Amino acid sequence: AKSQGKGRQVVYSAEMDQRSAEQARLAADLRTALDTGQLQLHYQPIVALPGGELHGVEALIRWTHPERGPIGPGLFIPAAERTGLIVPLGAWILEEACRQAARWAYELGGAAPRTVSVNVSARQLREAGFAGEVAAVLRRTGLAPHMLTVEVTETAVFDGGTALTELHAIAALGVSIALDDFGTGHSSLGLLRTCPADILKVDKSFIDDITEGGQQAVVAAALIRICAGMNLRAVAEGVETAEQAAELYRLGYRFAQGYHFARPLPAEAIAAYRPMGAAP
Ligand code: C2E
Ligand code: CA
Ligand code: CA
Ligand code: CA
Repeated sequence: AKSQGKGRQVVYSAEMDQRSAEQARLAADLRTALDTGQLQLHYQPIVALPGGELHGVEALIRWTHPERGPIGPGLFIPAAERTGLIVPLGAWILEEACRQAARWAYELGGAAPRTVSVNVSARQLREAGFAGEVAAVLRRTGLAPHMLTVEVTETAVFDGGTALTELHAIAALGVSIALDDFGTGHSSLGLLRTCPADILKVDKSFIDDITEGGQQAVVAAALIRICAGMNLRAVAEGVETAEQAAELYRLGYRFAQGYHFARPLPAEAIAAYRPMGAAP
């Protein structure tokens, strides 16, 4: 922007000021939201292919702002990361999701989701003692460690410092580790050797054109073979059509998530989830 003269620069920084002011306001409102119960977790089914039977769920946060209505996490999670509010917010999310999963196991028995996946941001993973907090939450909620999956992005793991140490400590508890949005970060496949990953979540961008045989379909096909060779479970994200699900199954995918099967749902609706076409 510098080479474009002083005028432009002023415009850009004014815009940036406005944006950071907006972010700051959002973060302040979020603090209140956390204290006054405006936040809620929804849960999106992770299903088995080809039938669509419930396997697990991913916890996704929802915020209903008293004046602005629903605000998507794509907007406020980055703000929470910048201000550090993600640390107490993330702790609340983790505990709430584990408590809910333990409740399902108790109430639904064999029909309960077998795992709950919780998104953990880079900032949380950098906090020393995060693995200890995970252990404490499992103790408090009574959730079996193998029922929890922690989802982290490649970028978060690559953050360096203690992130990888914390991940190994979390894995040692018996908790599963999923690499989220796989293939979109700046990492390399080398990460799969150093990171104690159990699950690879193949990003929606590799699924979108899978039935058109485009370049991304080649990536999806290669990733499933890598997973098979490295004993990783692959989950295809953002599956929106029956055709995509069928093609994924043909390629060897056995787990999927997406609007074709179910949108993120309030906790109460999970017990009623049935694969499409199944008897009620
Ligand atoms: P993500 O972890 O990759 O979550 C998947 C996102 O894709 C969710 O958006 C989900 O609603 C959406 N999705 C699922 N299936 C489909 C589909 O078939 N089509 C389309 N178009 N979208 C689909 P959501 O809930 O808006 O969350 C966006 C992102 O915000 C998440 O991406 C995650 O990075 C972050 N996020 C959400 N909840 C949390 C949370 O509790 N903690 C943290 N740290 N981040 C969260
Ligand atoms: Ca995720
Ligand atoms: Ca994802
Ligand atoms: Ca994503």
